[in-house]
Amino acid sequence: MLRCPQCSQPNPLGSNFCEACGASLAEVADAERMADEAEASVLLEQVKKARVALFIVGGALLLGGALAWRVDEVAAWTTMILAAIFFGLAVWAKRNPFAAAVVGLVAFLSLVLANLAVDPSTLTNGIVIKVIAIAILLKAVRDGLAYRAFRKSRGL
Ligand SMILES: [Zn+2]
Repeated sequence: MLRCPQCSQPNPLGSNFCEACGASLAEVADAERMADEAEASVLLEQVKKARVALFIVGGALLLGGALAWRVDEVAAWTTMILAAIFFGLAVWAKRNPFAAAVVGLVAFLSLVLANLAVDPSTLTNGIVIKVIAIAILLKAVRDGLAYRAFRKSRGL
């Protein structure tokens, strides 16, 4: 919607002149477009953040897998496979940051719960890292959601 600077009449996007008074809407249209571009760049930044979040969690899992190697080979393998999944999600996040972040969050929570089911004492293992990872992933979901809402509002 473009509001006329002369008479405040709302005009449809893409209008060059006000429907009510005929004043030029070029400047209003420019301002509107620049606001759109600013919003778009903020959202692209959010996509980047969601991707970085998935990469960070993937990296942490890879490290965790490497550290677990001497203690428990099966756990080490499982963790490293999950790390690979996160790297895949980070790549996918470029196309669909919301879905990638949701899958990442669900995968991570499943791992934590599966470990708990096998051995309840794992709850406190790296609890700080787990909480941070979940917080990072929740933030990524929010960023992805904002991005999706923006695309929808633009009919993309
Ligand atoms: Zn007007």
